[in-house]
Amino acid sequence: MNDCDMPPYPELLRRFAKAQRIPLFAQLELTARCNFNCRMCYIHMDDKHIKKLGQELTTDEWLRICREAKEAGTLYISLTGGEIFTRPDFQELYTKLSEMGFLITLMTNASMIDEKVMSWLKKRPPYMVRISLYGSNNDVYRSVCQVENGFCRVDKAIRLLQEAGIPIVLKSIVIKNNASDIREMYRYASERKLNLSVTEGIAKPVRGASSEASSVRFEPYLEESKNPDQVRLKKLVDGHGPFPHRPEYLMECKPYGSTFTVSWDGKMSWCSFLSNPYVDLNNCSVDEAWQKLMEITSKIHKPEACNNCKYEEYCLRCPGVLAAECGSYDQVSEDFCQRAKRLYFLYNGIKRED
Ligand code: SF4
Ligand code: SF4
Repeated sequence: MNDCDMPPYPELLRRFAKAQRIPLFAQLELTARCNFNCRMCYIHMDDKHIKKLGQELTTDEWLRICREAKEAGTLYISLTGGEIFTRPDFQELYTKLSEMGFLITLMTNASMIDEKVMSWLKKRPPYMVRISLYGSNNDVYRSVCQVENGFCRVDKAIRLLQEAGIPIVLKSIVIKNNASDIREMYRYASERKLNLSVTEGIAKPVRGASSEASSVRFEPYLEESKNPDQVRLKKLVDGHGPFPHRPEYLMECKPYGSTFTVSWDGKMSWCSFLSNPYVDLNNCSVDEAWQKLMEITSKIHKPEACNNCKYEEYCLRCPGVLAAECGSYDQVSEDFCQRAKRLYFLYNGIKRED
């Protein structure tokens, strides 16, 4: 089952909220801007590009949405981007959301967390800070994120947060540029006594962004080598559980039914990879949008092409992934289906036909 980019929220609560269709969790994409330029980022855009596509919601607009979300039953909010700390109003926004009583997770690259940020953050500590870790040294950061001194800045932030007793989880995305650094990243996490989860699951860019996702993607599943290193790497990045599994499409998505996302320009969906279906929060309240979203999405079915597909049990498909990879939640592509096919051969020890 896919768990996506959501923080590790309490599972029982999540199941309860899903069964009752309560929007307990919200993921707010405050901005598409970022101070890093990661090669695989599916959302990052510069100011010029953002202005061409729309307008970031203002402080007041986010506060209105959050007040309504609270009324609708939201308790956990994760603030994400882009990089949330690039918003000039971030301190004000965070403080007001914290005063409203939300349990807030900050999803950040951590590079902008310094002593000045800590002076206000520790007065109202977040529920959790989820940090994207891209490497164990500045060279790897340069290669993945195209920034200087990246690791040192992140390491400093981690130490400052730990000194303040703020819970941290680390998440890493593995691409070709940092695959050989995985062990070092685990070593670093263990030295700092932190949990690190690693995924190789990167999606193509969505909603007008561009990235190098297709060329930097690291796909250990597709490696047929019996090299023990490859096997170990595969295990390290295997977030999908054992194969075969039975993907049930919509219900396979853990966040569905308990979670909504709001894009930087105010569109509510249940998954940040999906540009469609969405409900525009610029024109209606959170409660109305949630009811509408649940109604529209309840009609979503898996693509026709998946019916009777021999490789279905090996397919890593879900609505969001198909939207990012194939253009829509109800479409498949030859390129995408090739992965399920190759997994089928790999796990069954059958020599590939192609
Ligand atoms: S391999 Fe393609 S057709 Fe088969 S289940 Fe996956 S997405 Fe559907
Ligand atoms: S649809 Fe989106 S939220 Fe659901 S499992 Fe897929 S990527 Fe995750």
